[in-house]
Amino acid sequence: MELTYKRKNVFAEADDAEIKRIFDYCEEYKKYLDCAKTERESVKYAISLIEKHGYKPYALGDKIAKGDKLYLNNRGKGLFILRAGKKDIAKHGIRILVAHIDSPRLDLKQVPLYEKADTAYFKTHYYGGIKKYHWLTIPLALHGVIALKSGKTVDINIGEDDCDPVFYITDLLPHLSQEINSKTISDGFKAENLNIVVGGIPVGKDADAVKSGVLKILNDKYGVTEEDFLSAEIEAVPAVKARDVGFDRAFLASYGHDDSVCAYPEITATLETKTDETVLTILADKEEIGSEGNTGMQCVLISDILNEIAKAYGANPAVVRAASRCISADVTAAYDPDYASAFEENNVGRVSHGVCMNKFTGARGKSGSNDASAEYIASLRAAFEKEGVVWQTGELGRVDLGGGGTVAKYIANINIDTVDMGVPVLSMHAPYELVSKADVYSAHKAFSAFIKN
Ligand code: MN
Ligand code: MN
Repeated sequence: MELTYKRKNVFAEADDAEIKRIFDYCEEYKKYLDCAKTERESVKYAISLIEKHGYKPYALGDKIAKGDKLYLNNRGKGLFILRAGKKDIAKHGIRILVAHIDSPRLDLKQVPLYEKADTAYFKTHYYGGIKKYHWLTIPLALHGVIALKSGKTVDINIGEDDCDPVFYITDLLPHLSQEINSKTISDGFKAENLNIVVGGIPVGKDADAVKSGVLKILNDKYGVTEEDFLSAEIEAVPAVKARDVGFDRAFLASYGHDDSVCAYPEITATLETKTDETVLTILADKEEIGSEGNTGMQCVLISDILNEIAKAYGANPAVVRAASRCISADVTAAYDPDYASAFEENNVGRVSHGVCMNKFTGARGKSGSNDASAEYIASLRAAFEKEGVVWQTGELGRVDLGGGGTVAKYIANINIDTVDMGVPVLSMHAPYELVSKADVYSAHKAFSAFIKN
């Protein structure tokens, strides 16, 4: 019997066949990353994957029967995927996997376009926790929708194709940065300076001739006017593709690993795992701004859906919830030796050591955290051991340095055992984040083991 606990390196434990599975899996993950940079695109991509596996659209009030494979598309920004299993859900409950599909980014304001110094710009309002200077001098793409009064919606996706133009936020040259360099980072980089260059050719003789030129292009290309931006959701995201990192290609860099790197394994585990359990897989919006609103996990919709499932099985919804269990699949911070003092060495996720469980999140003494029960974690330990999952535990960082939250507490609040589990990420919330491929595949295996057991 092993008396000491040691983390294991997934690559070191893996044979050649397992290494090949890790790398093959991440090739498919890269396609998801490049096609699904926003919540709306993630929903579309996920639906295209699950429809190939026979999943059908469902709306609240529709009939549910044992064996059904259904999905509820919540306003194009959230997705509930249901596999109605054979087992009695009053006894076995429902296996719930939830990850979020929104990532930190720059949203356009509702009146975004203006002109200054012969240049047209879009004003932005940042979404989620960003370091503002990260977004300067990198290529940006614009993704989103413009909803028209007619009820029609115009899709925007520009900056991803190699032939597309990109968009750009300027920075001050180092030669003239003496004043900025002596400021704090939060004083030196202001949100209202995150303005995106979108044009420079004047059209006509008006004072705002460059702005007019941009509006003409937008009208020709999309049939929209400046007023139409009042009902638009357009997001500026890095115009970069996912790329392998390192001579051995162990790492994968991309925009939006948080939380695509958990959302994608959720989907694949749901589609590939044989089980008689009922499985509800959720792709949620608005996690990065507190899970608010009717596409976030604080919305009553999850309870409505659980009630409908319980009704279909002739079960009491309260009994079903009490028997259910959930993995809140969200990323955690990976130990970074260049910033070692931000972490506590024994209790932090390590790259390539597998998907990482956070028993609790929160800040200042676990405040605001779902602190998962020891008994629930023990049952997951048994399932992971049975299915050969290499996994680890960690905390977000050193106690009292900062903290963060996830959707876990909102699921736990409706009386469902819930724990956080996700891939350790380096440079989390940067425009281009880094993960170990071993950990991505480990997440897939862990979520699969969770569904099965
Ligand atoms: Mn996250
Ligand atoms: Mn996040």
